[in-house]
Amino acid sequence: MKEYDVVIIGGGIHGAGVLQAAAAAGYSALLIERLALASGTSSRSSKLIHGGLRYLESGQFALVRESLRERAIHLRIAADLVELKPFFIPVYRDTRRRPWQLKLGLWVYALLGGFGAATRFGSVRESDWASLDGLKTQDLDAVVRYHDAQTNDALLTRAVVQSALSLGGAELKVPAAFTRAALRDNGVTVTYTAGESSVDCGARVLINAAGPWAPLVARAVEPAIAVPDVDLVQGTHIVIPFPLTAGIYYVESPTDGRAVFVMPWGRATLIGTTETPYRGDPDDVQPLPQEEEYLLAVARHYFPAWNRLTREDITERFAGLRVLPAATQAAFDRSRETIFTTDRDVRPRVLGIYGGKLTGWRAAAAHVMERISSSLPATVRRGTTEQLILRRPA
Ligand SMILES: Cc1cc2nc3c(=O)[nH]c(=O)nc-3n(C[C@H](O)[C@H](O)[C@H](O)COP(=O)(O)OP(=O)(O)OC[C@H]3O[C@@H](n4cnc5c(N)ncnc54)[C@H](O)[C@@H]3O)c2cc1C
Repeated sequence: MKEYDVVIIGGGIHGAGVLQAAAAAGYSALLIERLALASGTSSRSSKLIHGGLRYLESGQFALVRESLRERAIHLRIAADLVELKPFFIPVYRDTRRRPWQLKLGLWVYALLGGFGAATRFGSVRESDWASLDGLKTQDLDAVVRYHDAQTNDALLTRAVVQSALSLGGAELKVPAAFTRAALRDNGVTVTYTAGESSVDCGARVLINAAGPWAPLVARAVEPAIAVPDVDLVQGTHIVIPFPLTAGIYYVESPTDGRAVFVMPWGRATLIGTTETPYRGDPDDVQPLPQEEEYLLAVARHYFPAWNRLTREDITERFAGLRVLPAATQAAFDRSRETIFTTDRDVRPRVLGIYGGKLTGWRAAAAHVMERISSSLPATVRRGTTEQLILRRPA
């Protein structure tokens, strides 16, 4: 039976990040992915590498500060894949957040981002409103402008895996499905299926990075380990074949005031997202007709040239699942901090990653390595993830 320092379940951004961090730290690591890299949530996000402006409203300052730091790191190490974009927040007579509130928020955002060039913000002059992709100007009071970054989430995930493999010490099994794990005194025996065969391997630590499937993976560990109480919340995006060029629009839904992004996506426009509680099998998540109608209503409301849009115009649609701490309040207001769990405090054998952000994958992986360091031997480092350049995969 082959032995690894770290075995990771799930080839999304978190699994990729831990594979890279483990390889960089000098360990042997195996990543097991059931379908294809980034086939889960990590290809169905809003594709933003952002500080998360709206998390300021719920007081998640530490998260915003960390995310802005990660955004700056991405712009340096992943320049091929992550692009700073202008964001526009139009404020109409009846918009809930007024320009002064937005500017106060953006000032705090700039403070947490160290007042770097990417944190500059201001207003678009009225004489320039015509350059905003046909944005509705009736009752428009102001357009606030700031910057955040956009990526291709699936390509970013593959780039991180590529970086891990290039360091040495990292291996990939795709497609291969984790089936069960048995705890030993100082490690885990992991069983997975690859094709027709069932394979056993050993790990000092098993990392459960299975995203919305993480509770299912955790329940396949024997003896049983604690599984945190989480909710799954569905988020849908649609693509329409009409391009936007000026930047990303951050608007309030005319139906319920929730924030929605309208974003350039190649030669088309990506619109998302929704928040629908989800209780089914994570494999079955699909955009719902009412979610598509909700997003189309946003597009029609803010871009008068699109006022005849219907579901027939949608060229692509996808839904992903957020993993959030179980609670009764609206998904929008819940903490976006990643939850890390271990089977025991000292020398953990299993570590689970629940929730989190695409933006925070590198910081999450660094945290994981710190949490499991007592289970791993001393090694010679091969690299530092903050410095490793990520290249767009071919
Ligand atoms: C609608 C939506 C929009 C979002 N927008 C943003 C955004 O703009 N910016 C941002 O920073 N964050 C965003 N997020 C959050 C971000 O997308 C997620 O935090 C991140 O993608 C989660 O990655 P993950 O690796 O944990 O999970 P996943 O990407 O879901 O990866 C889990 C993987 O595990 C695999 N797997 C499952 N079971 C097994 C098994 N038994 N054996 C082997 N493999 C298995 C799955 O196939 C899957 O590939 C968004 C999330 C959602 C839902």
